Formats: sequence, C-alpha cells, structure tokens
Amino acid sequence: MSDRANPPARRLFKGIAAAPGVVVGAALVLDRHERRVVRRRILEHEVDHELERFAAAVAKVSAGFRALGLRVAEAGPEASLLEAYALMAEDDLLRREVERHIVHERRSASFALVLAVRSIARGLGDARDPYLRERSHDVGFIGEELRRALTLSEAEVPLALESPTIVVGYELSPADALRLGSSNVLAFVTEVGSRTSHTAILARALAVPCVVGLVDALEAIESGSVLCVDGARGTVVVHPTADDRADAARRVARQEALRARLDEGRERPTRTSCGVRVRLLANLELPSQVEVAKGHGAEGVGLFRTEFLYLDRTTSPSEEEQHQAFVRVAQALPSRPVTLRTFDLGGDKLASAVATPREANPLLGTRAVRLQLREPDLLLTQLRAVARASFDANLRVMVPLVSSVDELAQVRVLFERARAEITLEAGRPVPHVPLGAMIEVPAAALLAREFAREAEFLSIGTNDLAQYTLAVDRSSRALAHLASPYHPAVLRLLAMVIDAGRALDRPVSLCGEIASEPLGALLLVGLGLRELSIEAGAIPLVKAAIERVASSELEDVAREAVACGSASEVELLLGRVLAPRLGDILLAYAASPESRPGLLAQKLPSAPPK
Ligand code: PEP
Ligand code: MG
Repeated sequence: MSDRANPPARRLFKGIAAAPGVVVGAALVLDRHERRVVRRRILEHEVDHELERFAAAVAKVSAGFRALGLRVAEAGPEASLLEAYALMAEDDLLRREVERHIVHERRSASFALVLAVRSIARGLGDARDPYLRERSHDVGFIGEELRRALTLSEAEVPLALESPTIVVGYELSPADALRLGSSNVLAFVTEVGSRTSHTAILARALAVPCVVGLVDALEAIESGSVLCVDGARGTVVVHPTADDRADAARRVARQEALRARLDEGRERPTRTSCGVRVRLLANLELPSQVEVAKGHGAEGVGLFRTEFLYLDRTTSPSEEEQHQAFVRVAQALPSRPVTLRTFDLGGDKLASAVATPREANPLLGTRAVRLQLREPDLLLTQLRAVARASFDANLRVMVPLVSSVDELAQVRVLFERARAEITLEAGRPVPHVPLGAMIEVPAAALLAREFAREAEFLSIGTNDLAQYTLAVDRSSRALAHLASPYHPAVLRLLAMVIDAGRALDRPVSLCGEIASEPLGALLLVGLGLRELSIEAGAIPLVKAAIERVASSELEDVAREAVACGSASEVELLLGRVLAPRLGDILLAYAASPESRPGLLAQKLPSAPPK
C-alpha cells in the first residue's frame, strides 16, 4: 500500500503492440498460471467416482465452449476456434492418459489431469514444429479450464467486471477475452503471446487495446494497480505519474479527432498530393469481415485467405459453402474486384481435414500450391466454386507460393477443367476470371518476367517473401528484428517484379503487411505500385498518408531505399524523410518497438512516455 508522501515507483514495460488504443485504469490480475492442486491418492472404491467427475468436467467445459461459440457465430474465426477447444477438451489421448492415472495409479481426477496435461504439453513443447509448439499452450489452457471445472465452485467460474478494468494475465485465452470483452474491459495485458496470437486477433476484433509479450510484468502489477496502457506503442506504465496521465489524455483526444477526420474521406478515391491514383483494397480472412472493409472504404478485396474456411473444423468446406462465401463477399462490394487466393494450407496453417506429410521444415515443405497439386480434387472443388461464383461477381483468383511457372500452368489446367464443367452444368459460358501468381519466394521474384507471361496479374506477398529471402521464420518473436520487409534485398526483389509487370503490361499489386503501415505504403508507391491490399482498419490511415506526399518525392525516397545496405538504414531513412509529414497519423499508428526499432525511434513526433 502507498500513501501520498510515498507514491509507488513508476515502471515502464515494453511489449508487443497487439491492438491500438490508450487507456488509464485499475488492473485486475487473473493469476491463473499456478493454481495448486491437492496431490491426493484415492482408494479403490473412489475410482469410478473420480472417472465420473472427470467425464462431467469434460462435458461441462466443451458445452461451455460451444455455448460461447454460438454467441460469437457471426464474429469470425473465434467461433471455429471455440469448437476446436471443445474438441480438444474431448480429446481421446487426454482422456486415456487421465483415466490411466486414475485407474492404475490411483490419482484423484484433478491430480491425474495435471499429470496428463503436463506430459502432453511437454511433448508438444519440445516439438521442432512451431505449430505443435503453439498447440502446447492450447493444451495447457484446456487443462486449466478442466481443472477449474473439477475444483472450483460454480461462483468462481464466471468473470464479470463491475467497473471499467484493465485485465492482466500471464496468458489470456480467447475464451477469457470473449467472456470479458463485451463490457467494462478497458484493455488486455499479457506476459506471453504474439501479435498473431488468437487473443490479440480477438482484441483487435473487439476494439479493446491490447499489449502482449510484457515479460515479467506480473511481478510489478497487482490487482488494483493503476496502469496506463498504450496498445499502439506496446507500452504499459505501472503507477503512472500525472505527466503520464496527461500524455495519455492528449493522445486519446488526438486519435479521436484524427479518426473522425479520416472517416470523412471514406468515399474519396485515394491520390497522392500530385494526383497519382492508388487503389486500396482489403485483406480478408473470413467473409464476415467484408462489412468492416466496406465501412473503411475498401475498393475491393486484394486477398481473401480462403484457407481460413478450412481451419478448426473436421471436414473440408463443400463447393456450395465456398460458392456462398465468395458470392457473399462479392455482393457486399458490388462490381469491385474480389481476389480469391487458392487455399494456402500447410506450413503453419494445418487443417484437420487435409492431410499434410510429416516434415522437418513445414514452411519449406508441402505448403500452398504444392499441397494443392498433391490434392487436385480439393483444388478442383474450390475452383468449381470460384467458377460458379463468377456469374455473380467480379472475381480474380491467385495461386500462393509458386516457385516455377509449371505450377501455375498445372493450376490453370485444373481451372480450365472446372470452368468447362460449370459451363456445361450451367448451360452458359463461365465469365473470364483472371488467374494470377503470388510472388512470395525469391525464385518467383527472380523469374518475374516468366511469371508475368504465364499469369494475368501478379500479387506480391512480402510476409513470405521477407521470410524466404532473409531465411527468418516469420513467426519467431526472437528473430522479429531480422525479419523486416524493409530489408533492401526484399526491396530489390520488389523492384524486379514491378519492372517485369511494366515490361509485359501485367498489373502488379502487393498484399503483405508492409502495405498496412503508412510509411511502408508510401515506400511501395515510390517503388511504383498503384494497388495495395491491406488490413481493413488501416485503410483510412494509409489513404491519409498517401494524400500528403507527391509521387516524385516518394520515387526519390524509394531509389535511396533500394540502394541502402540494411533494413535499419531504410527504416531510418523513412523516419527521417517521411515521418515528419505524417506526425498525427503515426501517433495513432505506431508499430511495436520490438518489430520496427528504427521506424519507431524516428516517427513519433511527441516525446514517448518516460
Ligand atoms: C504474404 O505472404 O505476404 C501474404 C500476404 O500471405 P500470408 O501472409 O497469408 O502468407
Ligand atoms: Mg504468404
């Protein structure tokens, strides 16, 4: 406890910016990480009772997830995630392990559960495959939910907040976030997690500020501690001073004013200050997101990640289901282009209905087009859905991760077959649907001219292009500083692809994350791109950034950037030359200090928190 004479010491923590927004409020610490379980041996006559208790806990937890899933059915990927959690609670391996501990070792159900979860999670945690390692967190979380159902009284389970609160935890599950997210949550703060973890995605969807990866924060934060959370900078100040509070209030006011101003320009086509037209399209993961994209003024969809239709479910989506999803998106944006990417499964996106081989390096393995050509029936089903939807929509289709033109040619053969079949079935010719190639491995960038001959358009995926050019796993938090799409080696590949498009008169667009960052988007316009596909929420900010600068200035900066020797040189260049022009925009949209140290150092015009 503190008094006025001895206020608690201010501490600043830096984590990963997961969802923007600035708030000041009191913390509630959900310390669920290390709950104690009584390590009890049972007697023979108790065995059946303990088995029944475990079965009841499984039923209760999976029913709870499913009920939550129904509440968010329209909200996006969370519903299928909750179904996946329900299935994990019912998992056979977990059940067998728990039963073995109860029956053969005479452990209580709670103790048996702890032992079973620990050994399964440890096995997954040691896996080389990052997907499996990530699953070990899920197993831990499911175990915690089951343990809670076994040991806590009913009254302790639901979490309801009586006043506006910042929720802090070692690790927060998406289910916790959903339970709490509807009311009175000012922000989420966690010690672990990444920008792409499900809780972070959910926080963005709920528009709740969120900072994750705040190492050791729980040592300094107690329930009731006052925090200042900045979800755009990725900072948390514990026991903020009067200056911190005033700074937060100024930032909130500035962001609100900026948002209101930017929203007014929604209908205006994007142009540089000298009048060069740039089209801003949206990236989508699920059809329900199209309404948000429309609200932000998207001029179409530049990337629909169709593989999300296959995730967290036990069967592949049917032709009819995919057809409806594609038509729904297209109808929300009438006569605008909608670019469907054929399913990019494999690597770190595994669908239980689609078998992928066990591989030492899944990101270098049977992923995307390689998996599609291994499973031609699955691809044909999707392409038939595309052909059917093309009667009612302005569609384009593109193929991820191609590294040789043969792959594209093989997909084209299947697409022609799908078109011919649908033409016959519909009794009228299927409209033309351009077939494009995603340029996301260096081999494809180096062969951009050959691809431009074979494809009707090119779309550059810088998330993967940076990963494969720089040999850095894009999901690694430890190497995030090396995985910069601003690296000149990546920029030189972009320049080659843009040149090839120009030489062969093929449209080139870009749909990687760099285009959602205002400074990144300016650099891309300077390199010659005129169509960018970005996170829907970033459209107003990117538009405002483009409107402030002339294309000739951007071309000069881009020329200099391509000649740099490192990513940080490029980031410093952008920070020095362009950031001063975008002061207010960058204040509302600051990248995580972890991921873009160079840009952050330069681009914040007002003093960051002390
Ligand atoms: C990319 O790689 O840049 C891309 C847009 O595709 P994804 O992020 O889905 O791999
Ligand atoms: Mg990609």
